[in-house]
Amino acid sequence: MNQEDFPILNELVHGRRLVYLDNAATTQKPQVVLDAITEAYSHWNANVHRGVHHLSQVATQKHEEAREKVAQLIHAHSSEEIIFTKGTTDSLNMLARSFGDAMVKEGDEIIISQLEHHSNIVPWQMLCERKGAVLKVIPLCEDLSLDLEAFKGLLNEKTKLVSVAHVSNVLGVVNPVEEIIHLAHERGIVVCVDGAQSVPHLVMNVKQLDCDFLVFSAHKMYGPTGLGVLYGKKEWLDKLPPAEGGGEMIEHVSFEKTTYNVLPYKFEAGTPNYVGSYAFGKSIDYVQAIGLENIAKHEHALAEYIEQELNKIRQVKVYAAGKEKAGAVSFNVYRADGALIHPFDVGVLLDRQGVAVRTGHHCAEPLIDWLGVPGTVRASVGLYNTKEDVDVFISALKKAIMMLE
Ligand code: PMP
Repeated sequence: MNQEDFPILNELVHGRRLVYLDNAATTQKPQVVLDAITEAYSHWNANVHRGVHHLSQVATQKHEEAREKVAQLIHAHSSEEIIFTKGTTDSLNMLARSFGDAMVKEGDEIIISQLEHHSNIVPWQMLCERKGAVLKVIPLCEDLSLDLEAFKGLLNEKTKLVSVAHVSNVLGVVNPVEEIIHLAHERGIVVCVDGAQSVPHLVMNVKQLDCDFLVFSAHKMYGPTGLGVLYGKKEWLDKLPPAEGGGEMIEHVSFEKTTYNVLPYKFEAGTPNYVGSYAFGKSIDYVQAIGLENIAKHEHALAEYIEQELNKIRQVKVYAAGKEKAGAVSFNVYRADGALIHPFDVGVLLDRQGVAVRTGHHCAEPLIDWLGVPGTVRASVGLYNTKEDVDVFISALKKAIMMLE
């Protein structure tokens, strides 16, 4: 699908055609996104919101149009609910700071899960340390699904917020966030969904999902780095204090009293990444022209094909085998005597054959500890990957195993 739109896919790596299967870490950019960045700096670069001059007005308009596109992408009620951040990590830190300052006190509880990315663990841990609150963790079942019975048992009157990944960045599994949101809302508890791995791979509808907050990064969806989104229901964003102070986020400043700007600017201190938002708008146009459902179907089929081919290799163990996945498959390779071949060694030998995969703990050490391994090898797909890419990867993996066994 559309490989020719992505110039980087023509690169040779160690003399081989690049087979890029590290899309969960970041995606490559289509020419329209690269052109958008050059266009912005070549033709209308100016700081937004503050200027009466022409270029500033053009830049402001393009930045705000991009916000509209993001609102439409995730089916938000309005673009006021879209806060531009530096990325998923920044969004989660902002939320933990803002929600924590306003809503969390000593003895309160925050719930996350065993399979979270560090960026959905550490900001909540820091909040708990600041406030004397307690972090609770949804455990995993043997089959690596979230233990919803245990989750129900964790919910109580002290629980202030639940924050969970929609799709695990390690396992690729789709978590039952609808049910988690329903169970939490029954008790009046707020839910944040980490959509870093779901927004690029599924059709996201925050109205239907009814999450209170959603966070994701542009760079994982064919957009630029340094840009992310914090979506929040307006009623919550209105209620919460800003997490950062500075220009843009104020209405009036005096030494006695500062008043804050309206949404979404209240949460956007300083010069925003308006070139990034414009380029992200172009990547949203790009995926929408192909169709998010078509992309999801294509990636789902590829992930299934990867899993099916991995299952045929005797030495390979796939994690969360047979589970519904969106984009990523994790595995390890074992010698005949049962010893694990270090994922790093597998990754290096794949790289020598032009195949880019990720190895290690994938910024999810608690999950990797739970699995009892030093890490995994993860192959993750994007819209431009093909069945042929998977065939090259599988044959490279077989070669690597022969060398390592
Ligand atoms: N959460 C999940 C599930 C992720 O996969 C990632 C990125 N690997 C993040 C959060 C952090 O995203 P970023 O590094 O773009 O802030």
